[in-house]
Amino acid sequence: MAPKSNGTMMQVQNLKKHFPIKGGILSRTVGLVRAVDDISFEIRQGETLGLVGESGCGKSTTGKVLMRLLEPTSGEAQFSGDSIFQLKGKQLYDYRKKVQMIYQDPFSSLQPRATVEDMLGEILKYHGLARTRQEVRERVIELMEMVGLSDFHIGRYPHEFSGGQRQRIGIARALSLDPEMIICDEPVSALDVSIQSQIINLLKRLQKKLNLTYLFIAHDLSVVKHISDRIGVMYLGKLVELTGEEELFYNPLHPYTRSLLEAVPIPDPERTRVKAVIKGDVPSASKPPPGCVFHTRCPEKFDRCPQEKPQFHQVKDDHYVYCHLYE
Ligand code: SF4
Repeated sequence: MAPKSNGTMMQVQNLKKHFPIKGGILSRTVGLVRAVDDISFEIRQGETLGLVGESGCGKSTTGKVLMRLLEPTSGEAQFSGDSIFQLKGKQLYDYRKKVQMIYQDPFSSLQPRATVEDMLGEILKYHGLARTRQEVRERVIELMEMVGLSDFHIGRYPHEFSGGQRQRIGIARALSLDPEMIICDEPVSALDVSIQSQIINLLKRLQKKLNLTYLFIAHDLSVVKHISDRIGVMYLGKLVELTGEEELFYNPLHPYTRSLLEAVPIPDPERTRVKAVIKGDVPSASKPPPGCVFHTRCPEKFDRCPQEKPQFHQVKDDHYVYCHLYE
């Protein structure tokens, strides 16, 4: 179980999100997709926690549950001490101002028939952060400058921007309510590599300037490395490893993490990694393997692995692993 520290902003305990599979003429529940299956972690004030894993591992579902866009199946999550899943009315409204989200596809998340000024102005007016046209304009220009765009961009429509510029507008929208934390759901996956680094650098600058906390979700470990202080690796709904960015890259413990790292070059010829080749496809989240969910692909599995579920446990200071090898 992830530890508590004084600077904890969000604490997640035993979170599960299962989706029912309906079948038959009566549309009864005939199975469950275990998208997120009993994960625990904390997000510390001012840090970036990266969440990484292959498509379908449950990382984006985790982000949506924490945003209250999806209701959890079970588990607990607290933000600044308040139970997120119990929030209603004004408390939920306030939470949604403090915790914002940036989406993968900036185009589909922006209103196509509204200029940037109208779109951001609507949000500002709705939340009482600007009243007059002049106040709206000043705040929208300020937001544009914060994300590296110019004042003349405020009269343009989403289709008049490049993909990178649209993501900057998505970031401006997230910043418009002065959030404390942003859940970044694959924010650079749809962008060219050169633009990806610009957006990552922008997010880092904004974090420093505005004292923001990020949950940064991505499938590409090299992208996550550039922004994260700590990284959690997910596989088939489970958090299989969680530790500091440097520790994860130079001392990965879980066989799945090691296999993901095979694809990431190390800029230091003195350092090598243990080869861990994984074969086969990711099993269905509706029929996860018994015991350790990774045993069907693990090059280091042994007798105990298909029989018994590992515990997510602390191996050393700030390093947590879901694997029998370290028990
Ligand atoms: Fe591999 Fe066994 Fe560890 Fe699972 S518990 S990752 S199968 S060694």
